[in-house]
Amino acid sequence: MADTRMIERSALTGFAGYPLDRKADWRDQGTDFAEMFADPRLMVAVVAGEIPILNRSGPALGVWHTPQAAAAMGPAQERVFLGLDGEAPRAALRLAPELAEPLKANTSLLVLDLRSIAVQGLVPPGDLACLGAGKALTDWHARHGFCARCGQGTQAKAGGWKRVCEGCSTEHFPRTDPVTIMLAVRGDKCLLARQSRFPAGMHSCLAGFLEPGETIEDAVRRETFEEAGIRVGRVRYLASQPWPFPSSLMIGCLAEALNDDIVLDQAELEAGRWFTREECIAMLEHRHPDALTAPVPVAIANTLLRAWLDGEGF
Ligand SMILES: [Zn+2]
Repeated sequence: MADTRMIERSALTGFAGYPLDRKADWRDQGTDFAEMFADPRLMVAVVAGEIPILNRSGPALGVWHTPQAAAAMGPAQERVFLGLDGEAPRAALRLAPELAEPLKANTSLLVLDLRSIAVQGLVPPGDLACLGAGKALTDWHARHGFCARCGQGTQAKAGGWKRVCEGCSTEHFPRTDPVTIMLAVRGDKCLLARQSRFPAGMHSCLAGFLEPGETIEDAVRRETFEEAGIRVGRVRYLASQPWPFPSSLMIGCLAEALNDDIVLDQAELEAGRWFTREECIAMLEHRHPDALTAPVPVAIANTLLRAWLDGEGF
């Protein structure tokens, strides 16, 4: 197994490696983003609701379409400026969700959910990062048409990086929800568990949303005890991952387990136990005798597991 100790592990996760220059400084400088959207070099990523529309008119599957090709798919409900690729602007457009189904008939397009695109590695990592960000951001716009403070309508501004209330002028910014995901380890074993919705045999790390007032370490300790009855001592951050379902940041940690006796939260998990290093390697290599598997490489749970197998610990 490759030695990844000297690599920034976050960069190994799916949806990481955003390759564009976001030009965040333009957002407060009165930049005319309409000019960017009219630039002849503009290329756009397209989602219908939450479903990406890939371009298969070229030799390889692509995320990017010309604005003309996108316009032929239907009217854009939301559009956001993603940044510059060199000098060429890149944007994301959101079409109405109901357009996904009829667009499947177009043989120059591939209409497929984002998880499947990521898991199957259908597009290059940088393009996947753009597609994930574009989906998360356009989805935020679609769900924030009204001011949370006064209830009046809001308008997208700054190329899609904020919304401003027409009534009280409050500015609303795209949100990211932090989630802790942790590999609990004890001696030469780690704790993996499964939810009933997982693919058959797959076991993964425990995870849960941070709550107001918690540190990352607090959330790791609370979630590990709630879901598995395991008390956690030390917590080490290892890596993070943008997770656009709908707009989370996964914060990956190693957790030092202090007891052995697992008590699963049956409402959340259908199975879970301690796994040896040998078992984990067999799961990653798809040769476990009981056909148990580990999470796919685009998932940060895979990154955490490999980090522990590489020698990370306490
Ligand atoms: Zn308002």
